[in-house]
Amino acid sequence: MIRINVLTVFPEMFGPVKDQSILGKAGEKGMIEVNLINIRDFTEDKHRRTDDAPFGGGCGMLMTPQPVFDALKSVEEADSQRILYMSPRGRILDEELIRNLACEGEFTILCGHYEGVDQRIIDFWNMEEVSIGDYVLTGGELPAMVLIDAVSRFVPGVLGNEESAGDESVYSGLLEADQYTRPREYEGRFVPEVLTGGDHKKIRLWQLMESIRITAERRPEMLRKWAESGPDLDGFTKAEKKKITELIKSYIG
Ligand code: SAH
Repeated sequence: MIRINVLTVFPEMFGPVKDQSILGKAGEKGMIEVNLINIRDFTEDKHRRTDDAPFGGGCGMLMTPQPVFDALKSVEEADSQRILYMSPRGRILDEELIRNLACEGEFTILCGHYEGVDQRIIDFWNMEEVSIGDYVLTGGELPAMVLIDAVSRFVPGVLGNEESAGDESVYSGLLEADQYTRPREYEGRFVPEVLTGGDHKKIRLWQLMESIRITAERRPEMLRKWAESGPDLDGFTKAEKKKITELIKSYIG
């Protein structure tokens, strides 16, 4: 069970994402609670504004401290939990951060808007700035949803038993091999024979060799890191291990 508090001026944006598909089911089963807090509810401004012009000039508006401070004070134990601010200045969201967050019982996310937020919000609440990549969005809501979705896959019980969160592209250290489903032939294109042959050992070997090939072509640095980590080849025969090692060598020397 994990509770994620989200401070936003656009809580409606989260509805379709948090209420449907895997996240929706996890919510219904009480494994994840996304607690949406509308920053605007806390403003003391008579026009209900939550932003103001930046000191020093420049275009755009900044979110002012008062509504965000009061919204955070409404979160019980806000002082003792991690508070993330989605921001293009932040550390890039990656597997390590996602796995760490999945182990927290509760954490809070602030979504920025306009040109960002007054720095005192970040400093006072000791926020961790997190970016989803080197590009700029108009608000922190989509980045927050990306983070919540990725974290949810590591919350126990969210994925079915048959799926394992760590078994995917990137997390396994390699990119995944191509996948196919029925029919065996579609518009003259066939599923690779090995996959329909039913020999599970052969399939495993094929999948690993394909993973290595695809990773070598698209993300050579990822293949190098994986190879250097001394991957576990248990379950493969001596001859198979040799084949795998030679393939890796042919790519990274
Ligand atoms: N003026 C800011 C950008 C503001 S973008 C700057 O130059 O750093 C508006 C809001 O969108 C930000 O407050 C942040 O919450 C969100 N945002 C934009 N791009 C993002 C990214 N790559 N990762 C995470 N949040 C982002």
